[in-house]
Amino acid sequence: MAAEGRRVGVIGAGMVGVCTASYLQRDGHSVFLIDPGIPGEGASFGNAGAFNASSVTPVAMPGVIRKVPKWLLDPLGPLALRWSYLPTVLPYLYRFWRAGTAEKVHAQARALRPLVGPTLTMLRPLAEAAAAEEFVHQRGHLYVYRSPEALAKDGLAWTLRRENGVVADEFDADELRQLEPTLSREYVRGLLVRENGHTSNPFGLVTRLVDHFRRQGGEVIRARALGFRLEGRRLGAIRTDAGEFPADAAVVCAGAYSKPLAAGLGDKVPLETERGYHLMISDPEVMPRIPTADSDGKFVATPMALGLRFAGTVELAGLDAPPDWRRARILLEQGRRMLPGLAASHAEERLSVWMGHRPSMPDSLPVLGPSGISPDVLYAFGHGHVGMTAAPMTGRVIADLVSGRPAPIDIAPFAAGRFR
Ligand SMILES: Cc1cc2nc3c(=O)[nH]c(=O)nc-3n(C[C@H](O)[C@H](O)[C@H](O)COP(=O)(O)OP(=O)(O)OC[C@H]3O[C@@H](n4cnc5c(N)ncnc54)[C@H](O)[C@@H]3O)c2cc1C
Repeated sequence: MAAEGRRVGVIGAGMVGVCTASYLQRDGHSVFLIDPGIPGEGASFGNAGAFNASSVTPVAMPGVIRKVPKWLLDPLGPLALRWSYLPTVLPYLYRFWRAGTAEKVHAQARALRPLVGPTLTMLRPLAEAAAAEEFVHQRGHLYVYRSPEALAKDGLAWTLRRENGVVADEFDADELRQLEPTLSREYVRGLLVRENGHTSNPFGLVTRLVDHFRRQGGEVIRARALGFRLEGRRLGAIRTDAGEFPADAAVVCAGAYSKPLAAGLGDKVPLETERGYHLMISDPEVMPRIPTADSDGKFVATPMALGLRFAGTVELAGLDAPPDWRRARILLEQGRRMLPGLAASHAEERLSVWMGHRPSMPDSLPVLGPSGISPDVLYAFGHGHVGMTAAPMTGRVIADLVSGRPAPIDIAPFAAGRFR
C-alpha cells in the first residue's frame, strides 16, 4: 500500500489527537478528526500546562502505595477515592502496585524520556505554523520543598531524572527568594529544570492548532466513534453515531474514553481515569513567573494568560461521577499558603473551577503503536499526567508509522498487549 496520501481518521481532538492530526497532515495524508465535543475541551483544557521534558517519573513509585492510607485520611491530601468506586478500581490499583518496583521505575523512566524530552522541539514547528507561539514559553519548571528532608524523600525521582539526562539547578532559601519572590518563606529548597516549558493557554493552543489544521484542508467531524469496520485485517471505515467514515488508517486518541474502542478490537487495556481539578484566580494579586510544583501538596501553580491556575490532585471515581468541587477548593487553600501575597478571600466571580480526566495506565506509560488485530488502526492514548508534554512526539511517532517509516523512538514499552 502507498504510504503517502492515505485517508486517515483521528479519533479524539484533544492535544494528543490534534498534534497527531497535524503531523499526519504535514506528511501529505488526507486527515479528518472525529470528536463529539469541541476540540480541546477534554483533559487538554484545564491541565497545569507544563511541557515538562523532565517528566520521566512514574506515578507508581516504590513505597507510594504505603502512603495511600495517610493521603486518603487527609482531606487536604493529594489523593481521594469514592469508596463506591473501590471494587471497580481494585484491579487497576493492583497493577499500579506491581508497576512500582525499583527495577521497573528505572525502565519506565528510560522509556518516557525520548517521548517527553523533545516536547518543545516537536511542538515548535506546529505552534509556529499555527501562529500559536504566544502561548508557548520556556521559563523552566520549579520544584519547591519545605525542608531538606522533604527533598531527600524525593531522592528517587531526582535520580531517575538525572539518570535520563535532566539537569536541575538547586537553590537554597535565599536564592529561591531571589528567583521567585512571590513564594512563601516556608520553602527552603528549590530545583529548577530550565529545559522545561509551559503553555499559558492550553485550550487556546489546541484551538489554534485545530484552526490551522482546518485551513490546511483538514476536516473536523462532530461525531462519536463507536468502532471499526474491518475487511480482514485491513480497515474499511470508522463507525460513528453519525454513520461510517471510510478510512485507510485510524488513530485512537480519545484519552480516558479510549478503552471501549480498543476492547472492540480485542485489546483489553487497563486504562483508568485519574480525575484532576484546577482552580483559577483571575487578576491575581501575585503571580509566579515560573510554573512551580509544591512537592508535598502535589499541585502546580502556573501563570496563565487568563489568571493564576492551581492544578493537580488525583481522585479515583470513574468517568461518570459528578465533580467534588471541594477538591478544587483545597487547591485554593494550598495555593494561598504557597503564595502568601494572594488575598485571604476572593470574590466568587474571580474564581473558576474545572475537573478533567487524565487517561492513566498503571505503569504511567501510554499505549502507543498498532492495535493487535489491524496494522491500520493505531493507538495513541493513556498519557496520564504527561499528555500535553508527550503529545507532540506522539504525533510524530504515529505519522511515521502511518507513513511506513520506523518510529523515531523505541515504542516497544508502549505496546497495547503489555498487560496481557
Ligand atoms: C489537573 C490536571 C493537570 C495536568 N497537568 C498536566 C501538565 O502540566 N502537563 C502535562 O503534560 N499533562 C498534564 N495533565 C495531563 C493532560 O492534561 C492529559 O494527559 C492530556 O490532556 C490528554 O490528552 P488527550 O488528547 O489524550 O485527551 P483529551 O484532551 O481528554 O481528549 C480526548 C478527546 O477525545 C474525545 N472523545 C472521547 N470519546 C470519543 C469517541 N468515542 N469518539 C471520538 N472522540 C472521543 C473527547 O471529547 C476529547 O475531546 C494534567 C491533567 C489534569 C487533569
